[in-house]
Amino acid sequence: MNEADSHRLASALEKLGVKHTDDAESADILVLNTCVVRQQAEDAATGYITQMKPMKQRNPDKVLGVMGCMVGVRGNSPLRRTFPWVDVFMAPSEPAPMVNWLLQRAARSLADEETSSRFALQDDGVPASATGADRRLAEHETGKRVTANVPIVFGCSHACTFCIIPFRRGVERSRPAHEIVSEVRSLVDQGVREVTLLGQIVDRYGYDLLGDAYHIRSYNPGAASGHPSQELAIDSPLVKLLRDLSAINDLQRIRFLTGHPNWMTDELLDAVHELPKVMPHIEVPVQAGNDEVLLSMKRGYTTSDYRRLIQRIRERVPNASIATDVIVGFCGETEAQFLDTYQLLEELKLDVTHLARYSTRPHTAAERNLIDDVAEDEKMRRLQVLDSQQERIVTEINAKFLDATLEILVEDRFKDKWRGRTPQNKLVFFDDDTRDWRGQLVQVKITATGPWSMQGARAG
Ligand code: SF4
Repeated sequence: MNEADSHRLASALEKLGVKHTDDAESADILVLNTCVVRQQAEDAATGYITQMKPMKQRNPDKVLGVMGCMVGVRGNSPLRRTFPWVDVFMAPSEPAPMVNWLLQRAARSLADEETSSRFALQDDGVPASATGADRRLAEHETGKRVTANVPIVFGCSHACTFCIIPFRRGVERSRPAHEIVSEVRSLVDQGVREVTLLGQIVDRYGYDLLGDAYHIRSYNPGAASGHPSQELAIDSPLVKLLRDLSAINDLQRIRFLTGHPNWMTDELLDAVHELPKVMPHIEVPVQAGNDEVLLSMKRGYTTSDYRRLIQRIRERVPNASIATDVIVGFCGETEAQFLDTYQLLEELKLDVTHLARYSTRPHTAAERNLIDDVAEDEKMRRLQVLDSQQERIVTEINAKFLDATLEILVEDRFKDKWRGRTPQNKLVFFDDDTRDWRGQLVQVKITATGPWSMQGARAG
């Protein structure tokens, strides 16, 4: 989501005539996009903002911005006091404050020819790209970027007890479908061939637009042992969006992430199976493999629900790869509860497990009501245990692809090889200097497999 937000800001700035540079020191404008999902990420963001101070002292005209979850959606007064050298603070997915700041500064200095030529002002004020569908890739990416992330739902209203995201990204807000379709069309016109639709609960896309009856807060977690999403008895807005996007010529692939287990309907899974452009890769975080921990996290499902979900995915999308997220060391997690998670992952054998150590986040229910009582070295040990387990599982899964011929969408060149992904989102490298394969679908015969990538040779 942050990567998508950064691209959106870059696009809005390029509309003002700003050019991309890789050199932070010489840049006229420097924006840090921040993540605070864990304490470690917040500490890193604070470190980078502190490093910006001497840059401002050396060059007072340099414009400094901070964007993202560190700023949040509820005002930034404390940040302004702590980091007075920062000129502009922007909430997640909101490039408009920087665009407006630059426009106002340029307007104030209209007599200053250098400034007005540096920021080629438009008559119509804030460009549509600040929030709308007209998304231009950065100049250096046009015709080169094959994949792009497209946010379709901002924020989240679920409020898991450990999660800071609803406080920083606000309540769930789906974008209108027509705006998303226009944005994807525009990206495809600029060379993009694969889009990943993003949302904190992407399978909730569009329900908030249907009114209060479908709002997540009306959903009763006590009914989680069934599939509440199927009780809604309406067409899934995400399925409709996938159908509309599939009709775009030259768009080769569509992915979406991250799902929530309670909203992964049969209708959606069937659409993944039936629509050729929608890739068979499903991301559904489990977070823990023990029911007491899940209850304490207020995830709204049990481990039995999750097992049934994985079974449904495998029945309805037989070739799907499945990714999950797990937090180790959540408040009160005992060794036995941790081993339940280990056991669940051993049983389900998923393709990807994104692992995180729990850290307390401000304002969350866990911070207010629970005790972060698992020692840091124990959290690290549990993470390493699951990491080794996942490496073994995915090595076994990927070994099955040896000698298979897979269709790869080529993304770029990396260390003198072409790099792309299979429909299941597996990374594949191959050698072939006969032409520029970027953006092409290529058949590759797999010659070596490993846990994190595979090697191959172009077939035919
Ligand atoms: S579903 Fe839970 S973990 Fe995911 S963004 Fe919403 S509150 Fe956070």
